[in-house]
Amino acid sequence: MRELRKVEMENALECRNLRKQYPGQSSYALGDADRGVSVDVKQGELFALLGPSGCGKTTTLRIVGGFAEPDDGEVVINGEEVTSLPPYGRRTNTVFQSYALFPHMRVGANVGFGLKMGGVGKAEREARVRAVLEQVGLADFERRRVTELSGGQQQRAALARAMVNEPAILLLDEPLGALDLKLRREMQDELVRLKGRTKMTFVHVTHDQEEACAIADRIAIMDRGHIIQVDTPVALYREPRTSYVAEFINIGTVVRGRAQRSADWIEVEGENVRIEGRPPAWLNGHADVAAVLPHSRARIDPSDADEIAGSCGMVGVIDRVTFTGSVFEIVARTEEGFEVRAEMSEDDTSSWIRPGTSARIWWPNKDILFVKDSNAGTSGQQRWTTEV
Ligand code: ADP
Ligand code: MG
Repeated sequence: MRELRKVEMENALECRNLRKQYPGQSSYALGDADRGVSVDVKQGELFALLGPSGCGKTTTLRIVGGFAEPDDGEVVINGEEVTSLPPYGRRTNTVFQSYALFPHMRVGANVGFGLKMGGVGKAEREARVRAVLEQVGLADFERRRVTELSGGQQQRAALARAMVNEPAILLLDEPLGALDLKLRREMQDELVRLKGRTKMTFVHVTHDQEEACAIADRIAIMDRGHIIQVDTPVALYREPRTSYVAEFINIGTVVRGRAQRSADWIEVEGENVRIEGRPPAWLNGHADVAAVLPHSRARIDPSDADEIAGSCGMVGVIDRVTFTGSVFEIVARTEEGFEVRAEMSEDDTSSWIRPGTSARIWWPNKDILFVKDSNAGTSGQQRWTTEV
């Protein structure tokens, strides 16, 4: 018991078995009747909660910040159970999407407001406000009116206001959502730099998978009130656990079908297509399996090219070729009815690859991913057999 406590102390935040159902709602915003949401965030981590609108991200953040009480479960911050403490009783601060600066106050007064309310003396207050404005790149803006700031500068001011009393955990609810793409990117870099300069732990909510991957040490992917997978961005791409994760972060085309396997080989046989490869060990014992054909690993050949041994592929017609700024993205519709994508560097593309041309898109068996099928049970088609 004592040792368990020691391990717990290493986490900045622990959510244990959280459940929340809003009054009058038939479904749970967080968790369900069988289980709640549990997750640990380490000290100093920039941790992202990622999922589509309505999946429970804000509810989780509000419970952690003390703005909502869970029906069930516990919130532990730095080893202290704080579930029923109000926001000002816990060492968290929240930056909401609408950052709600006081428009009639200057930047410095906005940032120092909480310190003033907390009875911090003028000299100390001013020093701390200056230090934090420096950190967010607003050193020269202390005397500016909030209404004279750009969107990005307002966002920095809101961050400074949340950081000035040095919370253990900074909670960010889609804080960059209102910014244009260029500013978003700049603020993402800024957040990562800030994290490096402070001891704070960040919990960052977003529905944008690119943003989560760009800034987070680890990402928790949420679906309908549950956390589906927690991993580093690289691990999520290399080893998604479910078809939901693979589809939400757009790793590849998901092929569902009848799965058959031997000790170290699996084939998923859908309508007119069979995808084979090596399943990860953790998938052992799972009945409902789908194959994922990663966009980043796809190869493309003319449709009459010979099939390569040790590969799976499909023939299709190229629908569009887009340059994304870093790679070419080739989208094809296959005879089997799938939309498949190949991401290629400029060197790997050639002039025959254009819309209307037929092509063979293929993957070495080793590059195919296998996941639990999140849709299983709804289709009723997936059945498990043992021999290949
Ligand atoms: P997200 O932030 O991921 O978009 P939320 O946590 O805001 O999701 O919402 C999760 C679910 O709870 C949604 O179905 C939403 O409609 C519902 N919900 C959120 N806030 C309330 C509320 N105050 N009253 C009733 N239902 C709510
Ligand atoms: Mg939200």
